[in-house]
Amino acid sequence: MQDVVEKVYEQVVARNRGEAEFHQAVREVLESLDPVIAKHPHYAENALLERIVEPERQIMFRVPWVDDAGEVHVNRGFRIEFNSALGPYKGGLRFHPSVNAGIIKFLGFEQIFKNALTGQGIGGGKGGSDFDPHGKSDAEVMRFCQSFMTELSRHIGPNTDVPAGDIGVGGREIGYLFGQYKRLRNSYDAGVLTGKGLAWGGSLVRTEATGYGTVLFAQSMLATKGDSLEGKTVAVSGAGNVAIYAIEKAQQLGAKPITFSDSSGYVVDEAGVDLELLKQVKEVERGRVADYVSRRPGARLVTEGRPWDVPVDVALPCATQNELDADNAATLLRNGCAVVAEGANMPSTPEAIEAFQAAGILYAPGKASNAGGVATSALEMEQNAGRTRWDFATAEAKLTGIMADIHDSCVEAAETYGRPGDYVLGANAAGFTRVADVMIAHGIV
Ligand code: NDP
Repeated sequence: MQDVVEKVYEQVVARNRGEAEFHQAVREVLESLDPVIAKHPHYAENALLERIVEPERQIMFRVPWVDDAGEVHVNRGFRIEFNSALGPYKGGLRFHPSVNAGIIKFLGFEQIFKNALTGQGIGGGKGGSDFDPHGKSDAEVMRFCQSFMTELSRHIGPNTDVPAGDIGVGGREIGYLFGQYKRLRNSYDAGVLTGKGLAWGGSLVRTEATGYGTVLFAQSMLATKGDSLEGKTVAVSGAGNVAIYAIEKAQQLGAKPITFSDSSGYVVDEAGVDLELLKQVKEVERGRVADYVSRRPGARLVTEGRPWDVPVDVALPCATQNELDADNAATLLRNGCAVVAEGANMPSTPEAIEAFQAAGILYAPGKASNAGGVATSALEMEQNAGRTRWDFATAEAKLTGIMADIHDSCVEAAETYGRPGDYVLGANAAGFTRVADVMIAHGIV
């Protein structure tokens, strides 16, 4: 890294001690911005880098709640309002026991550039809690969500900050959160949350958007080589919202996904994933991947290793951060994998990314390839503001257009800065310049 960039990174590490994931996300962006800063010194002169790595506001709060047995629990809630240059803060809420300030900060930081890439008017933010919804009753999840929203409601609003779902936060949680917000504010502000139910302001295609968008991005990358997903085998990790709809779109485009996973292991189904069964197990029954295997002849559960051990043409990591390391990357490359598109946020470690880039395969960072989710959230906000509702085909066509534009912006920026085919540089440079130019226009604020 150039001195000026290295200095900013060192300051981030010193100021945000112990926040390894945040350091990792900042390093990845800053490293790739070297050619941008060299070409446009006014960004450094305006202290753009120092400003963009510092959240505008960080909120941390106590979330007390009572379980079904009457016992009191205390979790920690977070909302990091990172950057509002382009619009209201926008980004999901994650409920997972691993959540801490560093994880929310890394997600919020990535969100700034991702949201800029969509070309829509949305700033970057993220939030969540170390609450674990697994094994909790609906009533416990509801009481937790009500307590969480009691504090969060002071900080959000349709023109201020608009949360959505992420790991552990789906339609059920968004419903409880919205109900409590509406009750506290005595106002039906549909645009305060996205990922809502279709009967109360949600958008068609929001559920599918992140997974669909990831696969559409992979298809666009392959098209640059005159190729497509037709007939390709695919390894998917995760079995949640993103993974399920990545599998669905891959199947629609003629590919054959053969794996998925959760924290109990991964499933290999050489005949191709039975999507209806997977949806039944994960979406309806909230079960584990073993429940799929017990009902699907020929499928097997592997509890050691990761889906990346299975030979495939395409890998779609759709579970969580740092789930694909250097050894996994080496295995994928040895087995002939030629495309990696990230559905999750920062699933590949820096060493894995280096290996993909050195091998010259098609590699898409999550901030570009998984941007379809937030893009469709912005479409939901648009429908809420206009008190209208689009049909599935209209919403999907808009998503498809936005993903194609994101792909093309990445390709163009990579070429502008002298590294054609480098989607990491392309995504970071295109996202950064859009935000940075607006920050300069707004003055020192
Ligand atoms: P879900 O909660 O619906 O699913 C997450 C899946 O990943 C589950 O199968 C879960 O298994 C698995 N998983 C989560 N954490 C771990 C872990 N530490 N180790 C092993 N498996 C794990 O979340 P989403 O599908 O919404 O999110 C998946 C990823 O996509 C995340 O990185 C998220 O930030 C990213 N993303 C999501 C968007 C969205 O619109 N939802 C938008 C953009 C990115 P288990 O149930 O066993 O924990």
